Amino acid sequence: MAALALGNLLASPAAAFEMRRQDRLAALYSNQVVFDRQGEPLVSVRVTESQAAVDVTSAGRLTLMPGGDDGARVSAKAGARWTVTVEEGRPAEVRWWVIVDQIGARDLAGAARAREQWRRRGHPEVELIEAGAVIGLGGTTLDTRRRHVGIDPQADRDAAEARAAELAGELGVSTAVLGELVRRPGGWIVARDARSGFEIRAKDLLWITPEAPEKGPPPTVDLPDMEWGHGTPKRGRADRSYHGDVYLAVGRDGKLVAVNLLSAEALLEGVVPSEIFPSAPEAALQAQAVAARGQLLAKVGTRHRADPYLLCAETHCQVYKGQTRARPRTDAAVRATRGQLLFDARGLVDTTYSSACGGHSEAFHMMWGGPPKPSSPGRYDVADGSLDPLVPPGTPEPEAARIVAAFVERPGQSWCAASGGRSKVYRWTKTRTAAQVDAAVDAHAGRTVSPIHAIRPVRRGVSGRALAVEYVGGGGRYVVEGSYENRKLLGHLRSGMWVVERVGARPPGEAPAKWRFRGGGFGHGVGMCQHGAIGQARAGRGHDLILKHYYPGSRLETAW
Ligand SMILES: [Zn+2]
Ligand SMILES: [Zn+2]
Repeated sequence: MAALALGNLLASPAAAFEMRRQDRLAALYSNQVVFDRQGEPLVSVRVTESQAAVDVTSAGRLTLMPGGDDGARVSAKAGARWTVTVEEGRPAEVRWWVIVDQIGARDLAGAARAREQWRRRGHPEVELIEAGAVIGLGGTTLDTRRRHVGIDPQADRDAAEARAAELAGELGVSTAVLGELVRRPGGWIVARDARSGFEIRAKDLLWITPEAPEKGPPPTVDLPDMEWGHGTPKRGRADRSYHGDVYLAVGRDGKLVAVNLLSAEALLEGVVPSEIFPSAPEAALQAQAVAARGQLLAKVGTRHRADPYLLCAETHCQVYKGQTRARPRTDAAVRATRGQLLFDARGLVDTTYSSACGGHSEAFHMMWGGPPKPSSPGRYDVADGSLDPLVPPGTPEPEAARIVAAFVERPGQSWCAASGGRSKVYRWTKTRTAAQVDAAVDAHAGRTVSPIHAIRPVRRGVSGRALAVEYVGGGGRYVVEGSYENRKLLGHLRSGMWVVERVGARPPGEAPAKWRFRGGGFGHGVGMCQHGAIGQARAGRGHDLILKHYYPGSRLETAW
């Protein structure tokens, strides 16, 4: 497949906008990131999908390029409204793999070993799927590629998700699902201007660029009454406007997708305001901008390998609503940290973050599996906080529960105590009735485990977060893997750092009337603590110090 010649693009960044149709099509499925004229990486974000028709307009002039730059260009009058549809839409052919392991992109021996190992364990089909991206940064290359080990392929996503859940239980490993494109989707993209009757037909792809006016910023490309969040529980219609280019292509299901191509920096300006309180102190906003930039690049090439774009605009990737009202404080934080990323000896740091760690953050590998990440070991969230675990690995219950209970009881000196305390996320209590817990566990198990008389974490992370929980009831025992899975099951507990008490005098071995959960923190607790970053910024610490606290051993570099 024709990958973009990145070297050429770097030599002449403007070439990113002077691609032929074939190059543009290849770029849609490529994990080579290209750059704009300012030297900022361009990312493609799907803004709507599965559409029969999408309307496109602009206050300014638009150039429609049905054949890429080497083909016909149509310069549309300002205010023209195009209705775009697909004819002869043909869905993609995708195989969905259950991902059971990851290997470095250059570890060929490891790849061969994995293939052999999974075959021997009774999985005849093993595929090594490359995910991640190669990003050329003035002389150096940022390579986030990994090989994902896929087994037991399925024809649709739901079947693969079901198989992934089964395998996670059987093998005791964390699994994921990844689609591999076998055949690209295609069709005729037809744009009609109702007023003039003018019609443009383009094979597979229609590119739309706003024309820069003599003075002032380029106008936005507007998608009136656009459906967002298709296929998610939260969806709706809204008028949306986008800076940068917009292209229309045929999605996996053979229907229309609209994608916004814009610089990573412009995308961050749209993303950061919904990630943190825009009123947070400047250094906390800057730390957030750097962490969000790292997450953005880490996701590029790993999320939508079978789609004609890199990222979606929903919570799956990052919520992005296009050009909305100006947010001067967060925009300033993004601009002040332009191109800044965190690196350690192994490359780009996976800058995960969550609302409040509760006083001790969790280790990345404990929460999500894989080898330990030195930059996310979990630590006490105080100045010069130790990297010692709160709960040493292997500590048995109820000793582990006693340690967590004592920590949750302690009044906070942590960076997140003040700001998190005001938001009621530093320490919290939730009560669930026995009936609520019984119903949730039975539904999850698909059998009767109730009445539950004991809830016992069987594995905890370094911060004491419950990573696997055993429910003991009249119908036997049932173990649920995963911190988030258990939080959800127990009625959306704020974090995995919790201890549970029986409420109502009943002898052990009998179900209590209620369960009371006492806990600390909000979110997964891995990486940066956002309330802690606010606490540190209020204490006068700069964004580089804040980041080095949450990602120990990392260094801040300006990549573009
Ligand atoms: Zn996504
Ligand atoms: Zn914290």
